[in-house]
Amino acid sequence: MAATIIDGRAEAKRVRARVASEIVELTAGGARAPGLATILVGDDPASAIYVASKRRGCAEVGIADRHRHLPTSATQEEVAAEIEACNRDPEIDGILLQLPVPAGLDGAALTALIAPEKDVDGLTPISAGRLAQGTPGLRPCTPLGVLELLDTYGVALEGTEAVVVGRSDLVGRPLAALLLERNATVTTCHSRTRERARVCARADLLVAAVGVPGLIGADHVKPGATVIDVGITRTEQGLLGDVQFDAAARRARLITPVPGGVGPMTPAMLLQNTVTAARARAR
Ligand code: NAP
Repeated sequence: MAATIIDGRAEAKRVRARVASEIVELTAGGARAPGLATILVGDDPASAIYVASKRRGCAEVGIADRHRHLPTSATQEEVAAEIEACNRDPEIDGILLQLPVPAGLDGAALTALIAPEKDVDGLTPISAGRLAQGTPGLRPCTPLGVLELLDTYGVALEGTEAVVVGRSDLVGRPLAALLLERNATVTTCHSRTRERARVCARADLLVAAVGVPGLIGADHVKPGATVIDVGITRTEQGLLGDVQFDAAARRARLITPVPGGVGPMTPAMLLQNTVTAARARAR
């Protein structure tokens, strides 16, 4: 069996086009364009590249770019004051604090200051609690991107067996909660799981979010399963996922590549979350 390869780049483009048309509709109705504050502290080159790319994404779809750049020397209190100012600013609908913050600052404590209705990364304890309880709120972007791919490719979730490998606050844990919300039967594997391959081989939907290239071999894949590889590890051979792609693709029905699978979805879902937040605040 040759799996269908999920095209994350095309799907991300479709999401951006959808967001752009939602913004045209909002502004035609007299509302202002949604605003996203990206907060970058310091000059870490990788963080600067990520923030620049998010700002380009805003410009492309019509989100107002409310970027803030603080120096590496900024104190916890100064960054906190900037976040609080963004919380109060009526023209800002979404706030993204780029992590990691420089040494000496407490990124988790700063993230927790973001107002839940502006938490477009979905990473504050309040957003995580809302997701855990199944109440409405903003959800983290990468898990949302995975769901978007599954929905677009018509993957049924209700009643199916889903296994998520990885339990980080960023990906594995919220994704498991989202799949549970969609009535999948969800198992989470982690570094202490025994017989990981046997557990994974039960899955109709297998998601790997670990960061260990090639951890998931063909023996983890049930014939006909959907395999989603969230893992991205930068190596000398380029970007590698957690899944042994060729071997897994011979057993799966649907599979994401790395790169070009889940990766492009994350920034697209940030834009979607910003519009979702703006609509909710306008109500
Ligand atoms: P993380 O915080 O390091 O979490 C990794 C998880 O994998 C942990 O829960 C860990 O278990 C588990 N794990 C480690 N070794 C394992 C093993 N041998 N067997 C089973 N589970 C194991 O990483 P993350 O932030 O979730 O990111 C995971 C991967 O996704 C990384 O490659 C990252 O670059 C990528 N990522 C991609 C996107 C995207 O947009 N595509 C977004 C975010 C992250 P314990 O909890 O037991 O330690």
